[in-house]
Amino acid sequence: MDSVGVAAAAPDAGPGPAWQSKCPWGAPSTTSISCSLADVMSEQLAKELQLEEENAAFPEVVAAAEGPFITGENIDTSSDLMLAQMLQMEFDREYDAQLRREEKKINGDSKVSISFENYRKVHPYDSDSSEDEVDWQDTRHDPYRADKPTTTPRRGFIGKGKDITTKHDEVVCGRKNTARMENFAPEFQVGDGIGMDLKLSNQVFNALKQHAYSEERRSARLHEKKEHSTAEKAVDPKTRLLLYKMVNSGMLETITGCISTGKESVVFHAYGGKSATEDKVIPPECAIKVFKTTLNEFKNRDKYIKDDYRFKDRFSKLNPRKIIRMWAEKEMHNLTRMQNAGIPCPQVVILKKHVLVMSFIGQDQVPAPKLKDVALSNEDMKKAYYQILNMMQQLYRECNLVHADLSEYNMLWHDGKVWLIDVSQSVEPTHPHGLEFLFRDCRNVSQFFQKGGVAEALNERELFNAVSGLNITADNEVDFQAEIEALEKMNEDHVQNHGKKLSTFSSDGDPPIYDE
Ligand code: ADP
Ligand code: MN
Repeated sequence: MDSVGVAAAAPDAGPGPAWQSKCPWGAPSTTSISCSLADVMSEQLAKELQLEEENAAFPEVVAAAEGPFITGENIDTSSDLMLAQMLQMEFDREYDAQLRREEKKINGDSKVSISFENYRKVHPYDSDSSEDEVDWQDTRHDPYRADKPTTTPRRGFIGKGKDITTKHDEVVCGRKNTARMENFAPEFQVGDGIGMDLKLSNQVFNALKQHAYSEERRSARLHEKKEHSTAEKAVDPKTRLLLYKMVNSGMLETITGCISTGKESVVFHAYGGKSATEDKVIPPECAIKVFKTTLNEFKNRDKYIKDDYRFKDRFSKLNPRKIIRMWAEKEMHNLTRMQNAGIPCPQVVILKKHVLVMSFIGQDQVPAPKLKDVALSNEDMKKAYYQILNMMQQLYRECNLVHADLSEYNMLWHDGKVWLIDVSQSVEPTHPHGLEFLFRDCRNVSQFFQKGGVAEALNERELFNAVSGLNITADNEVDFQAEIEALEKMNEDHVQNHGKKLSTFSSDGDPPIYDE
């Protein structure tokens, strides 16, 4: 269209100020702007708008009545911010991957290499990319781990006469500096300097130390920023993306809303969709347990996983994000064992990173009540007690597990029976504190049913013996616990003496070795 044409057409564009008719793109739409330019420019308003949008993107708790949390339809319309973040995430990753390729190409086999580190979009502390797609990695064997170099003994020198070497020796000092790099933050990549017998001069070491500290501070800032950006306790963008993918693939129909926000996890309800493979059936209703990636809550749970020999060797070498995935993985393995033993519990559907999908205990979006919230008749109460006694024995003998957080809070009443949930912290009886955990479980169960009026309920010590098959005779709690600890110690010694490998404790539930 030429400008003459526009000018000719302009009078038809309707009434409007003179400048409109001169506009080469025609008249603007007539939607009125309700606030003044000054308002729009105001920082205050901008902030409010952003907050509003963020709240829309990360609702804290989405009640089922407010409409679904994630569905197939709302994927591309729900929130521009969310969508932009998803795209940005993908873009950053691709950009960095490209950068890495270029870096590799330029450096080739050259001994001296150039790093593009500073140009990356995703800071290494913050990255969760590529190789992390694997749900977990087996790091039991680490071929790159070299022995520590020998350093000078306390007295400060080695050798005799002419061959004497003091602690100020350049070589020794250099090696020491290299070894000290291990004290840097775990995420700080120090490479294999020790294995190469690298000797760092004091000057270089100090510069590296300085760098490590500033990187650590940067990481802390990044972390803080991220926590604030995720509207408190709701799921973070990465998790949301994972959930989107599940709905997108058709595995889930809709995610309706949140049923529980705990300290360590958020649980959602979802309607199941179709499985990609024929042999797998997705339950009509699912529960999605999202383990929180805010790390601090998990610190006090270290002891459950650190001493679990199944995870022991992997624990020390993993970053915190991977440790959280191990919780999800642990819950999955434990649920599978229980399923195989026929214990009523949720059935595992799929595990993706820190997100575990399982069957929903309950109906029509209403979760089954916890044992603590349901008023059972005397008869049902008694029935529930015997069922639990039975399940605890099965758990111990057939699954080779101790629940370790068993109480009326983690047992649901559904279909006239008790269902066990929340088994991420469950351990094998031979765990260094396994028997103590079992005793605590027994105390919770006994107290609940004794208070609930079940006359037949065993006391915690009787219950402990009934479940474990041990015969601890102490008639008071203090002595009983002392005996438990003595047994644990004996078992630890056994492990020490017979090598670290507990191959006799296969995951198929071999009996423990206490009665040897
Ligand atoms: P937490 O570690 O936060 O206690 P839980 O596994 O106990 O995690 O889940 C929290 C709550 O979510 C439970 O008390 C229960 O009400 C609900 N819930 C968890 N899993 C299921 C499930 N499979 N079906 C129904 N409700 C569930
Ligand atoms: Mn729980």
